[in-house]
Amino acid sequence: MFAVPQLRSLVTDIADEMRARTDRGRIADYIPELARVDPGFFGMAVALPDGTVVTAGDAETPFSIQSISKVFTLTLALGIAGDRLWKRVGREPSGTAFNSIVQLESEKGVPRNPFINAGAIAVTDVILAGHKPSVALGEILRFMRFLSDDQTVTIDKAVAESEQRTGFRNMALANYMKSFGVIENPVDYTLGVYFHHCAIAMSCRQLALAGRFLAHSGRNPDTGHSVISSERARRINAIMLTCGHYDGSGDFAYRVGLPGKSGVGGGILAIVPGQASIAVWSPGLDDAGNSHLGRIALEAFAKRSGVSIFGA
Ligand code: GLN
Repeated sequence: MFAVPQLRSLVTDIADEMRARTDRGRIADYIPELARVDPGFFGMAVALPDGTVVTAGDAETPFSIQSISKVFTLTLALGIAGDRLWKRVGREPSGTAFNSIVQLESEKGVPRNPFINAGAIAVTDVILAGHKPSVALGEILRFMRFLSDDQTVTIDKAVAESEQRTGFRNMALANYMKSFGVIENPVDYTLGVYFHHCAIAMSCRQLALAGRFLAHSGRNPDTGHSVISSERARRINAIMLTCGHYDGSGDFAYRVGLPGKSGVGGGILAIVPGQASIAVWSPGLDDAGNSHLGRIALEAFAKRSGVSIFGA
């Protein structure tokens, strides 16, 4: 278990080192609104079982969580559909970019996993079924507020609209899946909910708090609330490890050794089973679309604290 004073100095050291670095990766500029973010930000937050959050750097500044939202939509969709979800989406690493369309043709419109864009759009379609888009979106937002125990979590409308105007690849993916019957709702509705949940803005602190149930067998250890079964939490962690960083998932597992999920806003949520939920944020990305310094910070954290799911 982490001792708070040592953890505080470790997280502060890492944040100081990251802020001093000049290799910051490249901001995601295919979503025009994200291109405006200052690449100099770095934040880190570690949430412990008792609700203590150890933070450093820009850990209180909200950022666009983007694909990190896919962990939470997967959790909701499994609650709705259970194992039937796996008829709509697979659970194997794709080995391709997050927005790739190539496998969809040979695999008959069934996306490889719930974390690539195509898979997350199919998952959103499951959450939308039988609801108006605004109701489905409200459900997702309420879930984020409940998990982070913070009613101030909101959607950045400018980011959502920016992506809605320019998200032609996602439109192609959704229409292609629709042609196979994998998307059941009107494509515009499903994409509308998808773009908006990707545009949820949260700070590292809020995100680390929201991830706690994954670190603690599906329960919030602070309040005792059960969110999902321990078996489901274990499985979501497994998919985070194998698919959470797209075609960089193997490298992330090798270097960090923790289940993690990245987003093109530059955030990463990482889980230390039984111990902590960690959020890092640095907006510059590597070639696979994962936070460059975020990954380096988590690698330093895992190495110096001796935590990883594979041993010290
Ligand atoms: N909203 C982004 C997209 O669909 C999410 C991608 C990501 O964070 N990897 O392109």
